[in-house]
Amino acid sequence: MLAESVDAASAGIAILDEQNSVVYANAAFATQLRLADSASLIGTLPLSTWTHSASEQERHSLEDQMHDPGASVLSLKVGENITTTLYLDDRREGRRIVMVINDWTMSGAPRNVIAQLDALTGLANRTMYDKHIQDLCDIGEDNAASAVILLDMDRFKQVNDTLGHATGDSLLILAAKRMRSAIRSNDILIRLGGDEFVILQTQSKQPDGAQTVAERLVELLQRSFLINGHQINSGVSIGVAVLGQGTSNPEELLKHAELALYEAKRLGRSRYCFFESNLESNALERCNLELDLRRALCLRQFSLLYQPQKSLSDDSISGFEALIRWDHPVRGRVSPVDFIPLAEELGEIHAIGEWVIRTACQQATTWEGKQIVAVNVSPLQFNDDHIVTVVREALQASGLAPERLEVEITESTLMHNTEEVMQRLWAIKNMGVAIAMDDFGTGYASLSHLSSFPFSKLKIDKSFIQANQTPRAKALMEAILAMGTSLGMMTIAEGVETLDQYEDLARGGCTTAQGYYIAKPMAPENIEHFMRSTQTASPMSVS
Ligand code: C2E
Ligand code: MG
Ligand code: MG
Repeated sequence: MLAESVDAASAGIAILDEQNSVVYANAAFATQLRLADSASLIGTLPLSTWTHSASEQERHSLEDQMHDPGASVLSLKVGENITTTLYLDDRREGRRIVMVINDWTMSGAPRNVIAQLDALTGLANRTMYDKHIQDLCDIGEDNAASAVILLDMDRFKQVNDTLGHATGDSLLILAAKRMRSAIRSNDILIRLGGDEFVILQTQSKQPDGAQTVAERLVELLQRSFLINGHQINSGVSIGVAVLGQGTSNPEELLKHAELALYEAKRLGRSRYCFFESNLESNALERCNLELDLRRALCLRQFSLLYQPQKSLSDDSISGFEALIRWDHPVRGRVSPVDFIPLAEELGEIHAIGEWVIRTACQQATTWEGKQIVAVNVSPLQFNDDHIVTVVREALQASGLAPERLEVEITESTLMHNTEEVMQRLWAIKNMGVAIAMDDFGTGYASLSHLSSFPFSKLKIDKSFIQANQTPRAKALMEAILAMGTSLGMMTIAEGVETLDQYEDLARGGCTTAQGYYIAKPMAPENIEHFMRSTQTASPMSVS
């Protein structure tokens, strides 16, 4: 039964004896090497018979691999424009070599001819990883000479998205080749899937062995690739777990390598990290936080506070900035400074951001006056056209006049000053909504950004206001205010905490102020009371 299925298999399969002479070959094996029939192969030596059109270099590679097969791969030219991938495995039949051929050119597209082979790179696949790692772990704690080296290509998605999948595939094939060149023949290179590879390093003094290979891999993969005329700089991030150091459990070992890989990425990519036990607790905490954040919207754990903005010309409350809060049943109130970046990373910012805009518009309609409501919008929300729809629909659903909505963006929204981002800003502005530049002065190219779009308001970052003690800081503030005025923009100072700051700003020509001096962010139900108390209070002296 087994023999029959091997005979009929679409993968080319041959078994070689100790002298590298063929003792068995199935029909597909002969076909894929463009040879007449499989019977005529029996007793032949691959080097003399099969590679009649192979180059000198290919013959040498095949010879090397015949001597030291392991789980290895060789691309072999067997005819005009015909390349075959040989995958050699010496494990299954004692000293005999089982040779499996995966031929992509015949099928026209990569195809997984055997379950243990990755169709694209010809490398061993996930199934092989499970088998080898189990073998290594079975040897136990003493085998501290083995390491799992997990690799993930940097910027692979970008290559795939911008240059197409064919280029992405070529990149993986070339990267796999470089990886192969950096390891020894008894190390096993496996493609786990996507742009993730793993090397099982054996018989090496650890951690030095893994460190040397990881260093070499980072260096090798940092060099650019040339694919169809495109120079591609990808790079690789690597996580390493040494067998017996922390665990000897196969699944846990890969998890450790993953945690180390994650750390390498977190530290800026194109580097390697070894697993350390604290990574586990950090990851667990982060994982819990991620889970909680993904559920927070459904569980209605978000709310908006509103911080008043005061007009410096007449001391009236001209608007409120909506500031999100996350009330977690165990963690308590989580600051947006802590969870917004995570929401951005997880992609949750789109749903959260939409909820903020809709809720802020809705709540603003309940205010007695005609104050504006300012909403913070993350740069990521400007990555697609949806933001324009969200704003339009929030206005329609709430019935809020567009003039009462202000969208606050930061300079990072303009960092990739693409046509599309500009078009989205214009589309929102054209609805009658104001666009304010938040945290002005903290970015890299503040002045050039100001001329790229007609912002209605310049929001001066609190670091300027709070440093406004020295004559130099005062001069800088005055210059920003003067510039805002001359560009026809309103200016709002945030983080105003003292009467001195408030008066300085009023004298300097600043239009609006926001900060604890006026009021802290408040719950929507307190707005009415706040408005009434400011109306009755005597106007503040700003002479
Ligand atoms: P931001 O937009 O610059 O908001 C101003 C921050 O300064 C707020 O912190 C506010 O509470 C705080 N603040 C106000 N007055 C004073 C003051 O007098 N002194 C001091 N020291 N701080 C003051 P908060 O609410 O923690 O928000 C921090 C940041 O989180 C915001 O900075 C904004 O970038 C982001 N954020 C808040 N809500 C949202 C939101 O709904 N969506 C997005 N994408 N980001 C948000
Ligand atoms: Mg803001
Ligand atoms: Mg700000």
